[in-house]
Amino acid sequence: MKRPSLSRRRLLQAAVAGIAGGPLLAFGQQRVPIADMHSHYGMLTKKGIEAGFGEDLRKSGIALVAWKLVADLGFTRSTPSGIEQKSTPEAGDLARNFERRFATMKSYLVQQNLKTALARADVDAAGAGEPRVVLAAEGADFLEGKLDGLEGAYAQGLRHLQLVHYIRTPVGDRQTDKPTHDGLSEMGKKLVEACNERGILVDLAHAAPTALDQALEIAKAPFIWSHGWVAADDGRWQDSSGFLQRRLSLAHAKKIADRGGVVGLWALGLNRASAGWNASPGNPASYARELKNLVDKLGADHVAIGTDIEGVGNSAAIDTYSQLRAAVEALSGMGLDSAAVEKVAYANYARVLKAALTS
Ligand SMILES: [Zn+2]
Repeated sequence: MKRPSLSRRRLLQAAVAGIAGGPLLAFGQQRVPIADMHSHYGMLTKKGIEAGFGEDLRKSGIALVAWKLVADLGFTRSTPSGIEQKSTPEAGDLARNFERRFATMKSYLVQQNLKTALARADVDAAGAGEPRVVLAAEGADFLEGKLDGLEGAYAQGLRHLQLVHYIRTPVGDRQTDKPTHDGLSEMGKKLVEACNERGILVDLAHAAPTALDQALEIAKAPFIWSHGWVAADDGRWQDSSGFLQRRLSLAHAKKIADRGGVVGLWALGLNRASAGWNASPGNPASYARELKNLVDKLGADHVAIGTDIEGVGNSAAIDTYSQLRAAVEALSGMGLDSAAVEKVAYANYARVLKAALTS
């Protein structure tokens, strides 16, 4: 089929966007919705509320965003090769960290008139054109080793929980440090079960391969690997950089897919073509190419977007939602049919989120 030229497509899209103030146009007539499974927009490098998160996501047609509180922020530091723990929190520090930051996130959403995704109906509303923010945490550190805090976090709106991040945790082993739990701890295993039962999407990004295998054994709902990259073999904590440590093997990606789960690619703008990752800073098309490469290996039902906006630092292929929109446009020109583009851009995250939610 002959495609309209890029500029003509852009004009058409602009025209459609201009009259799409009402949420009622069918999918085929408007821009494909976009979901981002991992975003720190306005939290780390941009200037908080002035960063324009709400404005950017509305303008760019972002339907669902997992907006991720960084649970161990303040206890890590950057090194030339990655990120490491710099200090040990006192009892209560991590729980207070969460309370404070979560409250800030929620008040921002109120000011922006943005709704949170709490139930399946919210995910449907997002797909129909009314954006929803999924309150999420990168790290279950705030639980401080006990399941007691999970109910309170759920009541406050948490619906997506990444189990581990960069600091030592009673939950289980991380990709980036020497293992001490032989995978998930007993508490970590119970946490997976509790999230499944309560209706919180489990995110295994950053988890060591053994922990991932154990989660695959016990999970009762599909889970995700929200952000990272996929290579022939798993990263090892002894690898020379955070970039290498954070890779997921294709075999593990396939296991996640076999259980109905989804693997998200981060938008790290780094040229390591020899290792199998090649995206460049400020270059949405290069990120789209990586998405397409993973679709070829894993299938369109199991690949999604997990930009890690602001988490990937200065070298981001995608740092704004207009850039992410450009990446999705570029994906459409890479030989994927429109159904596949919609799955990768939006529907895969929506599907696993709905499967995890209990109402
Ligand atoms: Zn991360």
